[in-house]
Amino acid sequence: LRRNPGEPEFHQAVREVFSSLEVIQGRHPEYTDQGIITRLCEPERQIIFRVPWVDDEGTVQVNRGFRVEYNSALGPYKGGLRFHPSVNVGIVKFLGFEQIFKNSLTGLPIGGGKGGSDFDPHGRSDGEVMRFCQSFMTELHRHIGEYTDVPAGDIGVGAREIGYLFGQFKRLTNKYEAGTLTGKGLDWGGSLVRKEATGYGAAIFADEMLKARGESFDGRRVAISGSGNVAIYAAEKTAQLGGIAVTASDSSGYVVDEDGLDLDLLKQIKEVERGRISEYVDRRGGRSRFVENGSVWDVPVDIALPSATQNELDADAARTLVKNGVKAVSEGANMPCTPDAVDVFREAGTAYGPGKAANAGGVATSALEMQQNASRDTWSFGYTEDRLTDIMVGIHRTCLETAEEYGRPGDYVVGANVAGFRKVADAMIAFGVI
Ligand code: NDP
Repeated sequence: LRRNPGEPEFHQAVREVFSSLEVIQGRHPEYTDQGIITRLCEPERQIIFRVPWVDDEGTVQVNRGFRVEYNSALGPYKGGLRFHPSVNVGIVKFLGFEQIFKNSLTGLPIGGGKGGSDFDPHGRSDGEVMRFCQSFMTELHRHIGEYTDVPAGDIGVGAREIGYLFGQFKRLTNKYEAGTLTGKGLDWGGSLVRKEATGYGAAIFADEMLKARGESFDGRRVAISGSGNVAIYAAEKTAQLGGIAVTASDSSGYVVDEDGLDLDLLKQIKEVERGRISEYVDRRGGRSRFVENGSVWDVPVDIALPSATQNELDADAARTLVKNGVKAVSEGANMPCTPDAVDVFREAGTAYGPGKAANAGGVATSALEMQQNASRDTWSFGYTEDRLTDIMVGIHRTCLETAEEYGRPGDYVVGANVAGFRKVADAMIAFGVI
């Protein structure tokens, strides 16, 4: 705490993982002897840089850029870039820390990292976003590469931003090193299913948790928060699995549509027009309504897929969900449930899938994109989706088996943290104290 003041999200993430590790105490003295936990509290490298750019009025703007190269025990650093005004070093560190264990759970050879900037793309022209991305990459390109560090998207960073970033990387390095960034466009090295992967994966994880209890999505009402990349495709997979996604939100409020979300309309407003969620109701009509600044978790549902941002679902919201009979909560976002909310779900016996397991489908498919880039190949949608599904089913099984092995049956938090940690810790021991 003293070493990292003013970083509450980082402290929260570290506490969450290490509290799960109580179950392995006494069984693995080598982790203590080798200082694994102390070493894991410190990122391998943190880069903070100035990002100057010129806006459409000709005014010089300055943002702050970050890349935290957290842990490379299992492979090159891998994790997204977030562009949002709330970004600071503590948030990037929490995300990078979570990413280590998430990436480990995928079973693929990727280490953990994260980056971003306090730049806010909302309301900025394409030209402004391009100039910002070019300036950001002018520093970042020195630190990344397919064997060192492979960034991707996150909040505020989608296909448009990845395009500008990759264009500048290619220009500065004179290399078409496609495996340096993931989430690329399909014509220039991207992978089918990457866009859908995180949301699909979170819904598949929920489905696995339900199946383990003899339940299913069939006819179930599902609440989804956010209306970005993860939320839209969590809603799409929900519909494919027979569920009814009834909500979506953004930072202005939420919509509830009793007839189930019209996904074509949602994509048009959010992906094409970059509009606000309230516009959905204006155009959809029917049994949809907009609630300004309300909590999406007030809507009675059977399944919840929080897919916006960290700490968006607190203990009160969790109690409301439990009172309304929620059966499963699967985190599309990173750390969307507060620790108190998680306690409420645990006490109520709700199936709760933590983000590092439930939303690992995005980074897993990024690693599949890297595989395609390395072999100069492109895979079909069906093949790639089958691989994603196998990976999510495998992560679910690993979590359950590990929780059982360590005496906490059904506890996905313990299962995910212990299974993710052990692989990383064993690799760190193999490498010696570095
Ligand atoms: P997007 O930028 O596409 O969408 C984010 C959505 O969440 C928007 O609807 C946004 O609303 C809303 N949101 C963001 N911040 C806040 C806030 N402070 N309060 C209320 N609403 C907010 O991001 P993604 O969908 O890519 O990411 C969503 C979550 O999923 C994040 O936690 C991210 O780390 C996680 N994630 C994403 C992955 C990916 O592949 N994209 C992979 C794994 C995890 P508004 O536009 O009003 O800000």
